[in-house]
Amino acid sequence: MIKFPFSISLGQKILIIIGCYVFGLLSMFVISQKDLKTVSEKLEVIELAYGLNNVVLEIRRYEKNFFLYETTEALESNKHHLKDGIASVEHMEASGAKLKAQPLFRQLKQTLEKYQEAMAELSRGFYETYVIEQGELTDNIRAYGQEMVELSDKLVGFEHSQIQSILGELSRQLVIWSLVALLIGIIIPILMSFNVLRPLQIIKEATRSIAKGEFKKVSVLNTRDEMQQVLEAFNTMVGELERRQDQLVQSQKLSSIGTLSAGIAHQLNNPLNNIYTSCQIARSDFDTSDPDFIKQMLKNIDQETSRARGIVLSLLEFAREKEFTLRMENLKDIINRAVQLVRSQVPASIKVSVEVPRKLNLPMDSQRMQEVFLNLIINACQAIHGPGSIDISARISPDGKNTVISVHDSGDGVSKEIRDRLFDPFFTTKDEGMGTGLGLSITYGIIQKHNGEITVESARGEGTTFLITLPMHTEMSRE
Ligand code: ADP
Repeated sequence: MIKFPFSISLGQKILIIIGCYVFGLLSMFVISQKDLKTVSEKLEVIELAYGLNNVVLEIRRYEKNFFLYETTEALESNKHHLKDGIASVEHMEASGAKLKAQPLFRQLKQTLEKYQEAMAELSRGFYETYVIEQGELTDNIRAYGQEMVELSDKLVGFEHSQIQSILGELSRQLVIWSLVALLIGIIIPILMSFNVLRPLQIIKEATRSIAKGEFKKVSVLNTRDEMQQVLEAFNTMVGELERRQDQLVQSQKLSSIGTLSAGIAHQLNNPLNNIYTSCQIARSDFDTSDPDFIKQMLKNIDQETSRARGIVLSLLEFAREKEFTLRMENLKDIINRAVQLVRSQVPASIKVSVEVPRKLNLPMDSQRMQEVFLNLIINACQAIHGPGSIDISARISPDGKNTVISVHDSGDGVSKEIRDRLFDPFFTTKDEGMGTGLGLSITYGIIQKHNGEITVESARGEGTTFLITLPMHTEMSRE
């Protein structure tokens, strides 16, 4: 993945990429403009070279005519074209000072001048006798003529190949720039997806989890820009939400304790009464009774004190704020403790049954799970009017990976509309002051923290069943 080695903002990254792109386009424009200008200069030269080539051929044609028919017209036409030829080479030499063909121009001009000198000498002799004397001079003229033709052909060929190579170079540049543009076209979306789309996707998925009550921190991508800062800020927010959620759990727990307190006072009242009565009897019969009877009374007092102590301790244990920790705990013990805490709340007309295998141990946070069962049992009690039953059972799933716990009540049940909102925070159908609407949303959060799932099945008038699925094995300590 493309990473910038230093810290720059997203805006700067985009500017750098666009800058590179514009720079590339401009360079391509400047280079191709330069090449096109050279091509047009070359085309001018090639046109002149073709013209010169024709002039040279004309010179040679009149030279041949002159040698064949020995006429003054042929000689004059040869002279005339020769002058044109020399003027044309001089023009090319002057206008194309930077051209690579300069040595060829010079060579051609020298040959033309030598030819002109030789023709001038021949012409002087001819005008005296009107006869051409064949010999070294005519041989030289033919040789120079031949050289002129070869040089002008060479000049045309040379310019031709120059144009070809510039066009080749231009098309090579075009291919390179197209590839660069294609590459940038691929890199920009990749960069965008790494820098913007991926972090957004991560946040989108994380917000979905948060909506479900899972406070998962996202992995921060090392993009060293605003997106990294957004992800870091997001994680801070998740941490804060988690802290608040824990506070809510605690306040809901205190509210449950409030609900339980009347029943617990009642529960405490029984052992206290027994202690009081045993004390009274022991005091009044102290002098008359035998020591065994007094011992029995003291034993009663001891037993009832332990009972009262047990009730107070379990309440204190429940109320204490503790770190979330997963340990192998016995499911039946946790459920029994919860049932014990609410027992005094449950009217005699409601039968509570617990059918959980004795040796079923699972990774759990005992306090949080006790809170779950308390919430479910209290809700179930409140949904039953008159006689009814609350059945709690557990079984291991067929694949052996999970435990499925069912909390069923024969209460009123709820309509589909209400059922879909049961786990929403602050959703309650109870009268003001009677319900906070937090119990089930907190229950949901606790089960999520255990890597488990909770669902509800209910229909109006047909009771309600909460199904909790908990993994048999999981990493043992989670924040
Ligand atoms: P609260 O009990 O404070 O209202 P909860 O989140 O525990 O908050 O429950 C939300 C709502 O779900 C309750 O008000 C009640 O209408 C409904 N509910 C919960 N458990 C049951 C149940 N076992 N049977 C019928 N309705 C239930």
